[in-house]
Amino acid sequence: MKMPKFAYHRPDTVDEALELLDRHDAKVLAGGQSLVALMSMRIGQPEHLIDIGNLHDLHFIKKRQSGVAIGALVRHAEAESSPLVTERAPMVAAAMPHVGHQAIRNRGTICGSLAHADPAAELPAVAVATGARFVARSVNGERVIEANDFFEGYLETALEPNELLTEVRFPAWPEGAGASVTELSRRHGDFAIIGLAAKVLVDPESDLVNEAALVFFGAGSLPVRIADAETSLVGQPASPDSFATAAAIVADQLDPTADNHGTAAYRKHTAGVLTKRGLAEAVATIGAPA
Ligand code: FAD
Repeated sequence: MKMPKFAYHRPDTVDEALELLDRHDAKVLAGGQSLVALMSMRIGQPEHLIDIGNLHDLHFIKKRQSGVAIGALVRHAEAESSPLVTERAPMVAAAMPHVGHQAIRNRGTICGSLAHADPAAELPAVAVATGARFVARSVNGERVIEANDFFEGYLETALEPNELLTEVRFPAWPEGAGASVTELSRRHGDFAIIGLAAKVLVDPESDLVNEAALVFFGAGSLPVRIADAETSLVGQPASPDSFATAAAIVADQLDPTADNHGTAAYRKHTAGVLTKRGLAEAVATIGAPA
């Protein structure tokens, strides 16, 4: 289908972009991997597109305290090959091979994926599981939004229409923690039918789980955390038995939507399977070289 008509802007500075966003009924154009398809299908018809491709100040992956900050211009492929991301945000690195195909990762951006907030996408779940923070700027200033407050519904975030997501910050990755991203999709590279971002922190002295995060994608209109399953792991050995207990809680409590890719019952069952698999994979990465 042909794209609807729109006015195209390619500002050279962040301030110029913010002015444009404030003045117009506009959408930010980052990698265009989702927005162009939506516009072609007439799901979105913004009058103005603001291409951020020239905002070179936002093209960075940098250390931030003990974590890592990823600017709005960073493509998936750049994050995928970044040693800093692998070391400081291993769950982002684990997600990358699942995000579309190489051609999509060459154009699509990390921040674009988060701002798009597709509940079947990997990165929103990763952001919630890791406690990422989002830096939003507008002509009125800057604010930082916690991951738990950022995702509000299907393709909906806490970003105001005049705000630009300038960077996402992933906090320090604790020593002794392991990460995995596992999913079921029809073909590799497709959006997940159901998927899991898992984090496990094991105490090296006692070998018991100190902390766990289990956040599902493809399970509703938002990333879905199953807190009772996380709590069931704490104080237990990281073993098939404790993983099976967590999986049973997930299969019981997850309340996924049904669509033409799978029934709710199928998703619930698969989420339980992914819980056992994802936890085992996460534990296997603990102490492995970055
Ligand atoms: P764009 O398409 O440019 O923008 C998407 C939305 O985010 C728009 O509303 C835009 O206005 C907004 N936006 C972008 N950047 C900002 C910003 N800095 N501040 C404020 N708003 C912003 N993704 C997955 O996660 N998993 C998959 O398996 C997957 N498979 C795919 C398969 C195909 C065939 C295709 C075409 C895409 C797939 N994607 C998948 C989507 C891909 O990851 C996109 O790159 C991503 O969703 C959006 O990133 P983008 O930079 O292209 O954003």
